[in-house]
Amino acid sequence: MSYDDNNIFARILRGEIPCRKVFEDAHTLAFDDINPQAPIHTLVIPKGKYVSMKDFSEKASDAEIAALWRAVGKVSELKGIKDSGYRTLSNAGVNAHQEVPHLHIHVFGGGPLGPMLVKKS
Ligand code: AMP
Repeated sequence: MSYDDNNIFARILRGEIPCRKVFEDAHTLAFDDINPQAPIHTLVIPKGKYVSMKDFSEKASDAEIAALWRAVGKVSELKGIKDSGYRTLSNAGVNAHQEVPHLHIHVFGGGPLGPMLVKKS
């Protein structure tokens, strides 16, 4: 999947579409998911143009990589779920049903989250 400059998160980063910002630093933006799948559902994204974790881990600078993971931890604190528990998830590609082709880490919390994956029979 190649990077699409008009994907929804690129547009949020350019300020063309509003978001409910949770945290921002030089390399990272975190905002609430528009269609939450848990009482707390925040997305953490790099500001750089990376489609997936593979893309990011290969091409991003050490500073960008550190900032993304520090932001995930910061979000758990800002959202008040660092002690009660939370789950992080990042979908990549077709089999994972990635909808937005800009790397994002989902942070879920605020209540029991159920099993990690739905088991197929
Ligand atoms: P994924 O399926 O992992 O690509 O997840 C994409 C996520 O982006 C979904 O949870 C959507 O609800 C969320 N999303 C889509 N558009 C927006 C938006 N404008 N603001 C916040 N979250 C969004």
